[in-house]
Amino acid sequence: MSAVAAAARVYRGSHTEGRSRAELRELVQHVGAELELAPAEHIVEWAVATFGERFCVTSSMGDAVLAHLASRVAPGIDVVFVDTGYHFAETIGTRDAVEATLPVRMLTITPVESVASQEARLGDLWRTDPDRCCALRKVEPLERALASYDAWATGLRRAETRSRVIAPVVGWDEERGKVKVSPLARWSDAEVEAYAARHGVLVNPLVHDGYPSIGCAPCTRRVEPGDDPRSGRWAGLAKTECGIHAGGASAGRRTAVSPVPLDSAVETSPVPVVEGSPLS
Ligand code: SF4
Repeated sequence: MSAVAAAARVYRGSHTEGRSRAELRELVQHVGAELELAPAEHIVEWAVATFGERFCVTSSMGDAVLAHLASRVAPGIDVVFVDTGYHFAETIGTRDAVEATLPVRMLTITPVESVASQEARLGDLWRTDPDRCCALRKVEPLERALASYDAWATGLRRAETRSRVIAPVVGWDEERGKVKVSPLARWSDAEVEAYAARHGVLVNPLVHDGYPSIGCAPCTRRVEPGDDPRSGRWAGLAKTECGIHAGGASAGRRTAVSPVPLDSAVETSPVPVVEGSPLS
């Protein structure tokens, strides 16, 4: 048995029975505030101890910080990556490198329909109807993947964009009936960079080529230094989220972003409930 397989048997502990929606929601109410200021490692430790194999990490492969951190806590942990078919080659390469170098079980989830089939049937949806494209190629595959988990972790951070400023560390995903854990929610860009440097963590090479936020190739552009890191996503459109984070593909529009000041929103967000869920 390989070291990773042996570690995976530890991660796949005794918590294999799924909890009811009511039980999960109650868990969030009890621990949400308690873990708000906890270190990221402690938050992942709690999730692994609580959910065992019914907890996974999701990653869009902008970097491997969360996957690295989670694999230190729970070697063999499931890492879910949604391959939309429209990713940059660098993103697929990062996924492959993470799978080859970290003690994780990489689960690559694909949409029901291939890009070629979708384009033959519906044309370039990413141009004509990006909300529908994201629903088909990001949201549906993720929801299919999450069906066998009670809780999932995302790399979402409050500092990324104003629409994520109230993201709870441990939240309740009402739409999916799951616990959503964001261990890095309180981390700044500098803290992410410091962790990556300290541990030699894989980072998508596009990050150092003008793409601080990386989505699908047709919908991601370079940004100028100092610009909003996410301004290269769906540039020129009102759309700001793929729908995984924003409660549906039609949600998360630039015009709908709350003008809540960053500091006050963080300080006054004790209710760990989220409308949708995050990954992009
Ligand atoms: S980000 Fe663009 S290409 Fe990717 S699923 Fe959404 S609309 Fe389609």
